[in-house]
Amino acid sequence: MASATSRSTQNRLLAALPRAALERYFSELRPVSLIQRQVLYEPGAPLTHVYFVNEGVVSILTKMADATTIEVGMIGIEGAVGTAALLGGETSSQQALVQVAGSALRMNAAECKAAFDQSPAVRAVMMRFIEALFDLSAQTVACNRLHTIEQRCARWLMMARDRLQDDIMPMTHEFLASMLGVRRAGVTETAGELQRSGLIRYHHGRLTIIDREGLEATACECYRIDHNLFMRVCDAGQLGLQEKIKSFVRTRTKNAPRPKHVEV
Ligand SMILES: [Zn+2]
Repeated sequence: MASATSRSTQNRLLAALPRAALERYFSELRPVSLIQRQVLYEPGAPLTHVYFVNEGVVSILTKMADATTIEVGMIGIEGAVGTAALLGGETSSQQALVQVAGSALRMNAAECKAAFDQSPAVRAVMMRFIEALFDLSAQTVACNRLHTIEQRCARWLMMARDRLQDDIMPMTHEFLASMLGVRRAGVTETAGELQRSGLIRYHHGRLTIIDREGLEATACECYRIDHNLFMRVCDAGQLGLQEKIKSFVRTRTKNAPRPKHVEV
């Protein structure tokens, strides 16, 4: 079985971890597919696993008694699903729904919590993401109440684009309406306006962002705030990747100084 470090790891949390911590605590990561509309967690379900997203987008949705939903968080390569388990949570408070298919590396929640409890490096990386997710939820509450459907729609598309790193994404009006907590007719009208303005193209369930700058200008201020949070987590992961590459090169160089033992 290949180790976690030898697998293709797009996930920025895993990338941000020191190699030693990754090898010591995350050897049990297993690749899983994320299928569109797959529910990873229903509200009240036991938090059995943590999913480190490698590709795709997972929405965190608050579900009302009448089954209507509204998105309160979005997770892609910058994060993980099920992190409430690290803080001692036993069940999911929200629904976690795969909205764009992809893949993840999954591990047992109890083992992930043990790594979180024992390793300062794991704790620092995970807490940075959990804080960003908390900030995103708080911003989304204000956004849902104060900003127009057009602003929110543009914001949502740009957020999804950041996480997918792609201008093309599968999308239906019904799905976007349930994310934004509005009627389908409202989304159809808004998407039509964005399309007429030349910002997006929508065809047979596939949405393409044509004018990224224009779409960002249409989005409310909440997108920029989310983008900064997203980049803060991703940049740490990027630095981690660079460090791993450097460390790999060092270990391949004869007479290279041996790294000192550090607690990971
Ligand atoms: Zn907003």
